[in-house]
Amino acid sequence: MLELPELELLRRELDREVAGRKIKSIAVGEKSALGSGTGPAAMASLEGAKATSVVRRPGVLAIGTDAGRRLVLELRGPAPFRRTKGDEPTAFTVTFTQGAPLRVLKGTVRATVVPEESFDATHPGPGGIDLAEGAVSWMVFARALVGRGGSLRSLLLDDTVIAGLGPVYVDEILWHAGLRPDRNVDQFGTQELRRLSRAVSEVLHEAMKAGGTTTDAYGFTDLGGKPGGYTDQLEVVGRVGKPCRRCRRGTVAVAKIDGKPATICPECQV
Ligand SMILES: [Zn+2]
Repeated sequence: MLELPELELLRRELDREVAGRKIKSIAVGEKSALGSGTGPAAMASLEGAKATSVVRRPGVLAIGTDAGRRLVLELRGPAPFRRTKGDEPTAFTVTFTQGAPLRVLKGTVRATVVPEESFDATHPGPGGIDLAEGAVSWMVFARALVGRGGSLRSLLLDDTVIAGLGPVYVDEILWHAGLRPDRNVDQFGTQELRRLSRAVSEVLHEAMKAGGTTTDAYGFTDLGGKPGGYTDQLEVVGRVGKPCRRCRRGTVAVAKIDGKPATICPECQV
């Protein structure tokens, strides 16, 4: 599943590429890419409509139209779209009256056409803090985390606390904060809460600025097929067995936290 920085980067890029353009045709090659209640006829009902803005929901990008219906794309892969030519298997293609078509790659999306008036009810926003909407103060951040129990890592992975973080960014954030993933937030003092809050904002900001992250296990690309530039700045993810760049004593390792693998520096994350 796409994590918040890449999901927001795709939203912005898609919005830039399609908003204001008139949909000429939608050619569905793979009916299995359509969700329940949406057949090729529902997709074709968007032909002639003008795309408005692209909005983000958890795991979803939705293209608005002036026809009163949204094309809702539930994302199932990290590189779902192409604006460039190529031979990747395509589930469906949206052609506009001007500009390059949008290809949605096979196996990456489940598409439905949803009436505008029911979209907010069928696709509510995230329950937790949405950091792509802007940074929050450390006190707002602390209030969301404290008193919920569980490990620090499990809290950061919980969408009802902070929206859209997955294993890549949670492990990077915890390294930057210098905190062990199995710590109990309820025992944190002000200083540790501030450090954690700062690390979350900084890592997400830098990752988005650099165009996101792409690893072997997380094959994100933009609409041109380009991988993310933050990959070079990763400190623990993808660096198991290598020396820690901060303390230079520790070796980046995998620890089992809540039964799941977490990548950490066992020396300087305390
Ligand atoms: Zn270290």
